[in-house]
Amino acid sequence: MFERGINEEINELLGRELQGKLNEALLLILLTNNYVAAQKSSEEPQERFKARKTPLITEGLTTRAIADELVMPQSTVATAVARLVKRGLVTHSKGMPVKTTEAGRASGNEKLRHHRLLEVFLSNGLGMDHDSAHDESLKLMLLAGCNIIDAIDKQFNNPDTCPCGFDIPKSPLCDRIKK
Ligand SMILES: [Zn+2]
Ligand SMILES: [Zn+2]
Repeated sequence: MFERGINEEINELLGRELQGKLNEALLLILLTNNYVAAQKSSEEPQERFKARKTPLITEGLTTRAIADELVMPQSTVATAVARLVKRGLVTHSKGMPVKTTEAGRASGNEKLRHHRLLEVFLSNGLGMDHDSAHDESLKLMLLAGCNIIDAIDKQFNNPDTCPCGFDIPKSPLCDRIKK
């Protein structure tokens, strides 16, 4: 007789309730990252970004480019985009690239900060390998609040980069808990 453990329960919960939220977060992170990198690339040599799949433009990404980058069906991307539009985090009109709003970039930036500090915790603190730390940090990102992220930040002496070597951005949204 098959017994369900916590892993199965979490996966079921993710499948039903949280997968949509996770998709929205991944999409926002991708667009925010792309926006920031595109702004930087105008000051830096273009070659640095040659290996990227998606074009670096501050004008956003098409739903097809997003689907390719996140390895998601375009219908899933369309659902996530529609929800983010409703929340005022992205703008999109048919056939045009999906663009982040200022609120969307602030939210994407905070999510990146949470994701990367959770990676620091799982990888440097618990010794998990990079791939597992990456995957698990995305799930935890949906539930770990700013107070947990702040505690990790302090515990690891305000790290500048995640275990993969990417910058950990500062976030005014996270800083609100300190006031
Ligand atoms: Zn990382
Ligand atoms: Zn936060």
